[in-house]
Amino acid sequence: MPLVYITKYSLIKIGGILDIPYERSLSASKAIHTIIASHTKEKIFSSPELKVMTMTLAVNDILNTETADNIKIMNQRKSEFHSRKQRVIFYQDRLTYHYYKDCPNLLSDYNNFTIPVEIPEHRIEEYRQYFINNIDTFNRNEEAYYAQANAFFRVHMSPIKKSHHANSGKESVSSNNLLQSSTDEEDGKYIEEALSFFQTYKKTINKYGYASHLKEKLLQENKMSIEDYKIITAWHILKTNTKSEIISKIIKINQHSEQLFSEEVMIALGFHGCATCKTLNEKSINKALI
Ligand SMILES: [Zn+2]
Repeated sequence: MPLVYITKYSLIKIGGILDIPYERSLSASKAIHTIIASHTKEKIFSSPELKVMTMTLAVNDILNTETADNIKIMNQRKSEFHSRKQRVIFYQDRLTYHYYKDCPNLLSDYNNFTIPVEIPEHRIEEYRQYFINNIDTFNRNEEAYYAQANAFFRVHMSPIKKSHHANSGKESVSSNNLLQSSTDEEDGKYIEEALSFFQTYKKTINKYGYASHLKEKLLQENKMSIEDYKIITAWHILKTNTKSEIISKIIKINQHSEQLFSEEVMIALGFHGCATCKTLNEKSINKALI
């Protein structure tokens, strides 16, 4: 069976369906802490951030070492229930792998929209449907959409809810390339860059840093100044690069692959081959035949 590509977003998604043994999490977590400790004693990541990094590494480790028969999947219904409760309009219920590294679906970002916190959990599904039914109004006039939605759901939502939700494939590929092209002397380049920024803007970062994903909301609600917003935006990017750097480094040390996995394992996890890749494949076969 061939090796196939998946996005970093899919890797994180797998964390939600895979049964990860404790020892795997523990060794992943130790590896992360060792790298951070070799640079600093500062707490630059929050516990949830460390948890996602640990899970990504543990999943990568399992995908690189286990056979399709040995992959243990959590209760399928439980994981499906979990994704339905995600506060995004388009949750990915279909997991896809790719045959080509340059597949547009692997590289492109897609637009998603968050589901406002004001919508109670038991109405998420209803809101999702409502949003899709009224997406034309939303695209034409967001204010009008929220006025109408507020009346319908009897809540008050603040109208900054559009998010350019990266599928992280592009990010992963580009930072990966950057890391591969950097020499060993430059090892730890991003973490050092992040640390020097951290020292300069420690006060602001400590105030908001852990909530950097909420910066738009805080700015909108006048709970954050525009200067702080700029600092936190820069910090968010530095942190993202640092996380990629740490994960890539450990994967490299373990001599694992970062994006290429066995197709058989992906199928065992419930993934499907990307339709675009299949078309690209047929075209290249036809070309070869002509
Ligand atoms: Zn594809």
